[in-house]
Amino acid sequence: MSKEIICDFCGSKDSETNPVIAGDNAFICKACVTAAHEIMTGSAPLNDDSDTEEVSIKEQIKLRTPAQIKEILDDYIIGQNKAKKVLSVAVYNHYKRIFRKDEIDDDTEINKSNVLLIGPTGSGKTLLAQTIAKYLDVPLAIADATSLTEAGYVGDDVENVITRLLQSANGDVKKAETGIIFIDEVDKVARMSENRSITRDVSGEGVQQALLKIVEGSVVNVPPKGGRKHPGQDAVQVDTTNILFICGGAFDGLEEIVKKKQGANVLGFNQKKTGAKEEKDLISNVEAHDLVKYGLIPELIGRLHMIATLNEISEDDMIHILTEPKNALIKQYIKLFELDNVKLQFDKAALKEVAKLAIERKTGARGLRSILEDIMLDIMYDLPLYENKTVTITKDVVTNKKEPKIA
Ligand code: ADP
Repeated sequence: MSKEIICDFCGSKDSETNPVIAGDNAFICKACVTAAHEIMTGSAPLNDDSDTEEVSIKEQIKLRTPAQIKEILDDYIIGQNKAKKVLSVAVYNHYKRIFRKDEIDDDTEINKSNVLLIGPTGSGKTLLAQTIAKYLDVPLAIADATSLTEAGYVGDDVENVITRLLQSANGDVKKAETGIIFIDEVDKVARMSENRSITRDVSGEGVQQALLKIVEGSVVNVPPKGGRKHPGQDAVQVDTTNILFICGGAFDGLEEIVKKKQGANVLGFNQKKTGAKEEKDLISNVEAHDLVKYGLIPELIGRLHMIATLNEISEDDMIHILTEPKNALIKQYIKLFELDNVKLQFDKAALKEVAKLAIERKTGARGLRSILEDIMLDIMYDLPLYENKTVTITKDVVTNKKEPKIA
């Protein structure tokens, strides 16, 4: 007869609701594991929401390789392959470092792989951060470096970014501590350097120092509801050690620094005049010391291990952005029309025109939405009139505000 399995701690029998786990020489039930966990960590019980959440992130990361993470990014972001690759690897390593820390021996310290994305406005930097956070189901806070000030000055304290992250995690500190913070326009807080404009924000370096503090990992006291610290409000402590930081910036003028460096290496012989394309490619050769020259403090660059550059969006890419991602604007309009039993189509020439207009605006792919909204407003207004018909947007609709073709 087989021996009955009972928990050595509380004597409970093995059951479906309270299963007993067998070790080599001992047994323990689920309830005792939960209680032991609470005692050891002083945390909430194992089966509360935050832990389930942690397990789910853990599973996501375990299940996906960097290539699979990139595939998700491919669904939403056109082009920018290098940046997608860098981010997929950074995210994969980041969460591996957090969730598989038990497998790393004590002597090896794996650094956090924060990311710096360099690319023109509207090229997809924020979108990358948003997509990765959504896919991993981790909280995300987005902040603009130019709105940040050193603690104590009027403006947005760096600590407030953590508060925003906490809010995005619905107040769940544990969840916030494994979230993502995207800091845009870090190039705008560069300190002045020899050959750069004197109009730089002089407090830039102070902001960088404040940023460095949280990027490095520190325990930040944040007021739970944000805003200024208030004596009556209990502060919440958030450890930033495991928060992934993604910084972004356009870094106008950085090509000049890279070019000068390369020029110096070539020593003047056979130097060809660089074309616009080569000028753009220069940026992909950027190195940490170029960024120091630009005015970022070395300590901060040292914490942004992975640097990726994004290209300016070309006319062809604009068309792909309009039509291909899962949430592409054109796809959305087609769906909206379908709900009213109207078939919507765009002529190729019309899409090309929209792309051209977006390029003229110099705001990258960001301009596409408002251009389309402008074109589609009147047509949407009359949409019920077109039931069971096909509406075709021609080039003339875009350029001359003509009526669409109705058939
Ligand atoms: P930035 O580089 O300034 O952070 P964003 O990521 O905010 O630019 O881009 C603005 C918008 O433009 C996005 O929300 C998205 O709709 C569109 N967009 C920009 N780049 C891309 C891209 N590479 N692929 C798809 N959409 C893009």
